[in-house]
Amino acid sequence: MDLDAYRRTADRFITELMREYYRHYAGLKDSFEIDAIYAAHGGLFTRDAVQALRELDARSTEDGDERRRARMLLDFAVEGYVGAATKAVEEELAGAEAALTIEVGDELVGFREGPVVQANEADPGRRAEIERALLTATDEGLGSHYRERIERQHACATELGWSSYAAMCEHCKGIDLGALSEQTAAFSAASETSYPRMLEPELCRTLGIGFGELRRADLPRFFRAAGLDRHFPSARLTESFADTMRGLGIDVSGQDGVTFDIGSRPNKSPRAFCAPVRVPGEVYLVVAPIGGWDDYVTLFHEGGHTEHSANVDPELPFEFRRLGDNSISETYAFLLQHLVEDPEWLSLRLGVEDPSELVAHAKAQRLVYLRRYAGKIAYELELHGAAAGAWSALAGRYSELLGGALGIEWPTETFLADVDEGFYCACYLRAWALETHLRSYLRERFGPAWFESREAGDVLRRLWRDGQRLDAEELLGELTGARLHFGAVLADLGLSSS
Ligand SMILES: [Zn+2]
Repeated sequence: MDLDAYRRTADRFITELMREYYRHYAGLKDSFEIDAIYAAHGGLFTRDAVQALRELDARSTEDGDERRRARMLLDFAVEGYVGAATKAVEEELAGAEAALTIEVGDELVGFREGPVVQANEADPGRRAEIERALLTATDEGLGSHYRERIERQHACATELGWSSYAAMCEHCKGIDLGALSEQTAAFSAASETSYPRMLEPELCRTLGIGFGELRRADLPRFFRAAGLDRHFPSARLTESFADTMRGLGIDVSGQDGVTFDIGSRPNKSPRAFCAPVRVPGEVYLVVAPIGGWDDYVTLFHEGGHTEHSANVDPELPFEFRRLGDNSISETYAFLLQHLVEDPEWLSLRLGVEDPSELVAHAKAQRLVYLRRYAGKIAYELELHGAAAGAWSALAGRYSELLGGALGIEWPTETFLADVDEGFYCACYLRAWALETHLRSYLRERFGPAWFESREAGDVLRRLWRDGQRLDAEELLGELTGARLHFGAVLADLGLSSS
């Protein structure tokens, strides 16, 4: 195999795919034509290509960059192989989902809008009604597509010679998923008694209910926490990001190759995203603000991805610029996102005098996410493991594990829908841990207002230059010598003294 040619084609493939993604979801182009892009670069994802890269990976036994690059290329090829095999069902799924409506009382609501309507619905009875309609629609309207997607993913793993989809992901991504799941289960156990106590006052304030009354249907409204919007003026949104970056020594208005696509346009995705078309050199940050604190959360999260991509060293090999452990980019996204709940930042950037309510809510929310993802990784290991049981048994396990993690009754209907591709849940979990370590490192070195320090910016720019060359453990090891652990997250949430 001509590796350099493979890398060049792979780089072009990602660029074309990202550009199509950007143009469609930014509302610049109605159609979303990825078929042609896959077809034009079909050679990247054949079984032979996967096999050749697997052999290269097996031969690369010495620790170092060559080994990292081989593993990243293998992961890329395997992901593309699965992507090509599931493309048709993904398209069917997207089409079915977009066309699906649910009936709430005498009103028709789009399936995808369901959670947004729930978040804005003050009446708990109506929130439960929407929930029932969403679950029925998931089961009856989409269930067969979700099932097919998972079956195809599993078939790909078998075709390529792995014992299971989980084993394939574990090898290609170089993450010990079992160990991670054990660590996050320990995190859940350690926060078990504080969890309802931490949630109770926040539920009271946002929903007027206690923990005992919480249902899954209430979560979107809890996360939305519209009462906090008053701290986040729309007019300060982009300015506050630019000011924050200036504090770190970055002038976003003069940044080469970065486009801030902010403002409304028909057909623009309501969900903010970052599209790294070329890394570095052509990165889009797309946001469609609607007002409120969620705008800040998403702009800063996607802003973290954007700054990371925009600051990658152009001389790095393709693999380190475009592939690697996505926990790294997510870490930078969460680092900036968490500024929006940082008392120091809130005071300095938005003049919030008493951030205590906001800080307490954000912490409670973070704990819900962490526990939910701890439940998810445990479940996904069972779903994608070699010894996976029958569908009905899995549906039961899903409800048991997720419901157990959150201490509320959890439905079975979403057991195949609520699944991240390629164990992306592991990236979020590792990013939450690594971000906590990185943030405390920055605070220790540069003080609580580290985001006002050019030197802290220099540290970040040095890290960003390296793309995703190192994985989460390696990066932390090089930065502080510490090992990645969730005890740091517990401490950050004020749940332990260590
Ligand atoms: Zn992200």
